[in-house]
Amino acid sequence: MLKGKGALVTGSTSGIGLAMAKALAGEGCNIMLHGLGDPAEIERTRRALATSAAVTVGHDGADMSRPEGVAAMVAHAKEVLGTIDVLINNAGIQHVAPIDEFPLDRYDAIVAVNLSAAFHATRLVLADMKARKWGRIVNTASTHGLVASVHKGPYIMAKHGIVGLTKATALEAAPFGVTCNAICPGFTRTAMLERVMEAHAKELGLTKEQAYHAMLKEKTPTLRLVEEEEVGALALFLCGDMARSITGTAIPIDGGWTTH
Ligand code: NAD
Repeated sequence: MLKGKGALVTGSTSGIGLAMAKALAGEGCNIMLHGLGDPAEIERTRRALATSAAVTVGHDGADMSRPEGVAAMVAHAKEVLGTIDVLINNAGIQHVAPIDEFPLDRYDAIVAVNLSAAFHATRLVLADMKARKWGRIVNTASTHGLVASVHKGPYIMAKHGIVGLTKATALEAAPFGVTCNAICPGFTRTAMLERVMEAHAKELGLTKEQAYHAMLKEKTPTLRLVEEEEVGALALFLCGDMARSITGTAIPIDGGWTTH
């Protein structure tokens, strides 16, 4: 039932967003990739996905820290896809520091990209989804949308906020056949996690491997990282017909972290 539908996936030039885009394209969705990165590499990714899944794939590079960027991305996606039937708010950034030392520019960027951009994109696609009586919105939150850790204050604040946005959107959209859910991944093997772990290892005077091991031991009962494809598969399920009664949820995919 997803064949021919249009999906805009923010932050899909790498990591979890790209895995979600690949999962949706595999079911025949036309895709608007979005995100920053090396233009040549993004073009290779775009072409490879269009060829392997035999769907239309576009790319938009708007900066999510500005509401005008979000509006331009949504307009571009409508142009390429015709309709935005699936919106995945996934773009995100991280910075690790104690609250009393947190750089203000990093705070502003985290709130803008991880939270406000999702509100703006949702605000701009919802009326059309309601009018068509079908839509799926999936927000990438995090275990940090459900629980806290030290030195990630603004990220945790933004991810708890996106869980709130998910519930508010779900209630307003429910009568119109539109669902909205949040996915809460634990430590997932991506470039973002690599950067965080490098900083963490430096802070603790450990090698990166030792830092990974300590982090899994502390937080992840399964003792393994979540793989991007697992998160992609969950997003795909939430976009399918059998998930039509699931809305307003925040679903952990975290190796048991939040059962502690
Ligand atoms: P990633 O760095 O691979 O992907 C981030 C994406 O966001 C990229 O496409 C990047 O270009 C885009 N982006 C960042 N800043 C942007 C900006 N200002 N404007 C436009 N695009 C921008 O990281 P990832 O781990 O795949 O993260 C994806 C999402 O998953 C994020 O919301 C993150 O918070 C969340 N998440 C990640 C983990 C993890 O362990 N990796 C765990 C829980 C949640």
